[in-house]
Amino acid sequence: MTTERVTVGSVEIVSVADGVMRAQPAFLFSGIPPEMYTPALGDDLADDGTFAVKFGSFLVRSSGRTVLVDTGMGNKNPGSPGGQLLINLRRLGVRPEDVDVVVNTHLHVDHVGWNCTERDGAYLPTFPNAQYWVSRTEWEFWTDPEIVAEEGEHIVRDVLPLKDSPQLRLAEGEAAITPELSLLPTPGHTPGHCSLAVASAGERAVILGDVAHHPLHLVRLWIAAIDELPRVSRRTKRALAERLIQEQALVAAGHFTPGSFGRLVLANGRRAWQPL
Ligand SMILES: [Zn+2]
Repeated sequence: MTTERVTVGSVEIVSVADGVMRAQPAFLFSGIPPEMYTPALGDDLADDGTFAVKFGSFLVRSSGRTVLVDTGMGNKNPGSPGGQLLINLRRLGVRPEDVDVVVNTHLHVDHVGWNCTERDGAYLPTFPNAQYWVSRTEWEFWTDPEIVAEEGEHIVRDVLPLKDSPQLRLAEGEAAITPELSLLPTPGHTPGHCSLAVASAGERAVILGDVAHHPLHLVRLWIAAIDELPRVSRRTKRALAERLIQEQALVAAGHFTPGSFGRLVLANGRRAWQPL
């Protein structure tokens, strides 16, 4: 796997993958008919009618701190794609104890998979020295007992064990993680979903989380069938797309393939995705 690494001012961002899956367009482009998504996806669409979706995390170095954004699918579900994150971090020379901050953009199964690891029958934080940042809105939504019962095991194994831990930080609004990194509330995919805004030496980037699983979510503002709040999701996509173009911000998107980085630009008055 090639290493993707960018710098934004004095901040370094490295893409680190946990694995890749194949997705059905109907799953990620809600209500969009094949005659629209087929030409739009172009070469991304394989002969079997699927396209690749990566489980991508980001390792961010900012102000002397090592920050991990999202923790992938993990290895607790045998047969599911993913499980490579810790191996890929080790290739970069990063051990779990080196991580100072974990940011969960949201609490879906493919973003919290390595939050915790089983030891002697208990699930404990995989990153023993890290603060785990989650938006309070997101935390309260997914830890509601009714949701836990509906959602299954991943909340029990990778979210609830953090509940009374001094490592958990519940964030309100645009919380500052370091002087260069702050949470950016981008609700819709989930109620408390947050992106991570990077600003350093006049340069800007946004680590999207699941505001977009594919560039078409930013270009066409199509929403995903798995967005909890569809109308809010579309509003968020529209507002963030405008901001990304206006700020000429670098975009980091964990689900995009093959590359995780690019920019949203205006070409002849229309939004277009420009991979790095
Ligand atoms: Zn996701």
